[in-house]
Amino acid sequence: MFMNSSEPPAPRARAEQMHGLRNIPSVAAVLEATTRQGVSGLYGMRATTDAARTVLEVTRAAVVKGENSDLDPEALADKTRRLLETADRSSLRPVFNLTGTVLHTNLGRAVLAETARTAALAAMSEAVALEFDLDSGRRGERDDHVRALLCELTGAEDATIVNNNAAAVLLALNTFSAGREAIVSRGELIEIGGAFRMPDIMARAGCKLVEVGTTNRTHARDYRAAIGPETGVILKVHTSNYRIEGFTCEVEAVELEAIAQEARVPLINDLGSGTLVDLARYGLPREPTVREAVAQGAGVVTFSGDKLLGGPQSGFIVGKRDLLSAINVNPLKRALRVDKIRLAAIEATLKLYRDPDRLTERLPTMRTLARPKAEIAAVAARLASPLAVALGPVFVVEPCDCLSQVGSGALPIEAIPSAGLRIHPADGGGGALQRLAASLRALPRPVIGRTGKGALVLDLRCLTDEAAFLSNLGNLRLS
Ligand SMILES: *Cc1c(COP(=O)(O)O)cnc(C)c1O
Repeated sequence: MFMNSSEPPAPRARAEQMHGLRNIPSVAAVLEATTRQGVSGLYGMRATTDAARTVLEVTRAAVVKGENSDLDPEALADKTRRLLETADRSSLRPVFNLTGTVLHTNLGRAVLAETARTAALAAMSEAVALEFDLDSGRRGERDDHVRALLCELTGAEDATIVNNNAAAVLLALNTFSAGREAIVSRGELIEIGGAFRMPDIMARAGCKLVEVGTTNRTHARDYRAAIGPETGVILKVHTSNYRIEGFTCEVEAVELEAIAQEARVPLINDLGSGTLVDLARYGLPREPTVREAVAQGAGVVTFSGDKLLGGPQSGFIVGKRDLLSAINVNPLKRALRVDKIRLAAIEATLKLYRDPDRLTERLPTMRTLARPKAEIAAVAARLASPLAVALGPVFVVEPCDCLSQVGSGALPIEAIPSAGLRIHPADGGGGALQRLAASLRALPRPVIGRTGKGALVLDLRCLTDEAAFLSNLGNLRLS
């Protein structure tokens, strides 16, 4: 006889269902098994009980539907453990950044140096002399921990530190031009991403934007013509994430500083990334150094802590003493300050710059950026076949050349020759690639690559732990 599944179960099926429901273990029985497995010890009794109840509800629903379900308390305790593990897993967890973008803003930018991590851990674990002068026993200033170091490394008279470079620009603009005008070239009205747009920052800083010049050409006379009694500041912005090429003209900082001095207003030079060393010595494209910007005379220079500098998120303001004093008494500074954990990491990171010869050994950002292509290609050669085995015959895996980027808006045009693995579906199907990317993201340590042109490319520049990469692959479930 043909039976429609939407009809009520036949008497015999109903009897089986009742029997199944009676056989579902009690919460107490499942909890006993979780205790034996050490699960309740790990996650606590309350969370374990809640999870066991959820598992039992799901099991009951399955039995009612007539589905086969393992009713053994050990198996249910196992499900409870998996539920707890998933709920406990942090969404802010380590990933393999194989995107080829070394300082990837969405993946946390710079990876910190060991000395920085150690210093941060100590600052987290113990009371520290954060605002306490150990010599006099009096109150100290948190900037004191890095002020001298920043001056030493940049040649500036004074320095301060805030939450990030966006905060540094906001604070500097607010200090010198709230209620007044800030002059900036039309070629430098940047958008950094994440809603950092220069005109909006200026509005929030309370100043009136006065645009001068054109997108591609701004002359000294344009700035001079804009200066008036309401001028509070001249702002120069390093166009970090784009470049205007061709028929262009910009006014260099040296000349702008002279114009600013004539007008008796400060020049703020926002470098964006900025770097404390000449990158050319590591075979990388040049980027203006902070020392050069200071030497060109800008009263205030701002730059980021977690871009090329390779430290934690932070923003630096260095420059002339009287201008820094004005910044330091701005009440906004208190709202933008950094905490002890980052301050400790910043101090340790900056100290590494005292020995540029060993920077590529000790600072992960510099080590990764300067990593020779041949070394990366060797990693690709070693990983190609284990990855091909893990992916099975549906995919073709081959070592390839690729191009890395610095990221975070630094050196947007220059690409760094790199190597990696190119994965494409054997039958050319596009959906397979998206599913593969999703499976790689679902790994215990998600693997993030770059898709495009019918392939998924894993740029191996940032991969340091090959063993961890391989053992992680063992968990791959292709959907
Ligand atoms: C990146 C950047 C900023 C913002 O710096 P954050 O440290 O990300 O806040 C500001 N100005 C320029 C020119 C930048 O490149």
